[in-house]
Amino acid sequence: MSKFDHARFRAQFPLIGKAPLNPNLVYFDNGATTQKPSAVIEAEGAFYSSANSNVHRASFSLAATATDLFEGCRTKLANYFNAEHVNEIIFTKGTTESINLVALSWGQTYLSKGDEIILSAAEHHANIVPWQLIAEKTGAKIKWAELLPSGRIDLEQFEHLLTNKTKMVAINHISNVLGVINPVREIVKLAKQVGAYVLIDGAQSAAAIDVDVQSLGVDFYVCSSHKMYGPTGVGVLYGRREILDSMPPYQTGGEMITKVTRERTTFNKLPFKFEAGTPNIAGVVAFSKALDFIEQFSLKGLSFKNELIDYAYRKLSEVPQLSFLAEGKPDIPVFSFTLPQHLQDISAVLDSKGIAVRAGSLCAMPLMQSKGIEGCIRVSLAPYNTFEEIDYLIESLKRVLASDDEKAPSEAQQDDICADEAIMRDKFKSAGSWDLKQREIMLLGKSFTRMARENRIDEFLVQGCESKAWVTVSESNGHYFFEGDSDARIIRGLLAIVFAAFQGKTQQEILAFDIKEYFDSLGLIKHLSPSRGNGLNAIVAYISEQLTS
Ligand code: PLP
Repeated sequence: MSKFDHARFRAQFPLIGKAPLNPNLVYFDNGATTQKPSAVIEAEGAFYSSANSNVHRASFSLAATATDLFEGCRTKLANYFNAEHVNEIIFTKGTTESINLVALSWGQTYLSKGDEIILSAAEHHANIVPWQLIAEKTGAKIKWAELLPSGRIDLEQFEHLLTNKTKMVAINHISNVLGVINPVREIVKLAKQVGAYVLIDGAQSAAAIDVDVQSLGVDFYVCSSHKMYGPTGVGVLYGRREILDSMPPYQTGGEMITKVTRERTTFNKLPFKFEAGTPNIAGVVAFSKALDFIEQFSLKGLSFKNELIDYAYRKLSEVPQLSFLAEGKPDIPVFSFTLPQHLQDISAVLDSKGIAVRAGSLCAMPLMQSKGIEGCIRVSLAPYNTFEEIDYLIESLKRVLASDDEKAPSEAQQDDICADEAIMRDKFKSAGSWDLKQREIMLLGKSFTRMARENRIDEFLVQGCESKAWVTVSESNGHYFFEGDSDARIIRGLLAIVFAAFQGKTQQEILAFDIKEYFDSLGLIKHLSPSRGNGLNAIVAYISEQLTS
């Protein structure tokens, strides 16, 4: 096998840049979506410029070209997953839709009161909520497979959950939080002993490891193109033919029919029965290129991934305050951990250094609950990532951890800050780069006078902030005064900025104040992540509401 040419591989991704370290973008959120290679980006454009037509229905040659390209992807996927028949591959808009399709269509056919569905403690919400809804509708019950300290499903406990009422086992192949491969073959074997069906959520595994649906013996396998170097808005449902044949359509309309009269409709055969309406044709065509790309660079068996895992695991383990969510090294380069600082504070500082990581519940709230935490930080790597980027992350994490030692402004300086919005404008004008502005916000958050703990109650909670934020408003002689607090230092910093604009003013002055111009002049909005930008707006909306209600 030829050696992996990392530089050549990285050069395929226009957003990442060629240098081993681009401090403006270190992309470590590959678990959410991978970056796209030029071949995929160009294929989508090329479809529109040279082959655009609807598929299946028209009787002219352009439509035949489009249909061939579209169906070519289906054939590739059937080979990719070693499906027995090409019509076992259904196009959806993503993993989420694929699971919804099965839960609704299969669930309404096969589930009844008292039946049992087994999920694992590490499922993505996409593989929980559709089952909860269908369980509610049908009277079925959900049972939970627990995890070993390594993060893998505990087979012994799983075996005890199985009964002759178990109708569906829906679990992930690789968790988006823990990055470990579940023993799917053993799970299928045990589930089949009680006659249960098995759906595997392959969102994190489909591009990472070899998947042979026949050899695994699964009934359903689902994944998303955008986590496989392909475009967004395209997903796959593999289902065994005889089961798909026995299931009713999920959505109805064009494409999925054979005949419609005023009285009734007969449905098309597989796979079209489940593909109502015009699909994301250009997306599917570009997805085809992504599958070629995975093969071209042998991405599934790449030994470089193991080098990345080893390096990142060793380096992260050297940060003493860091605590991983699972024991041991993961199987794919996905690392989830907590640190003593608030998640939002960590991700905000990393963001100011150009490092994109995920912070929060990672769409796996039940897993966070079972760990007794609100969320975690996830660093998820792809083979275009570099050792230099990992070093840069570690350096930046150490700076975050050290930032608690930074000197807060003196009390006199603090009074200045709170007294006047003009001082705030000056402060941010002199902090030129986003990195420096971010540091200012964190310092403001550090010196911010916190609320009495008894006031941190739901009554004063600002809805719309990702982290908890509380605000109280008081009035004296027609002038308004504000107190606030938040778990996250960055949000306390943002509160300080808002309060500096409003503190001690009249209702008329506050409502007339051009807050957008103020935030713009500080250079905040364009840099804040959507969640923190929304949080800032939520604080302002809350204050206006309090003044006008
Ligand atoms: N399942 C897992 C394990 C995932 O990681 C994700 C996305 O992060 C999903 C399901 C949902 O995928 P999508 O948003 O593409 O539908």
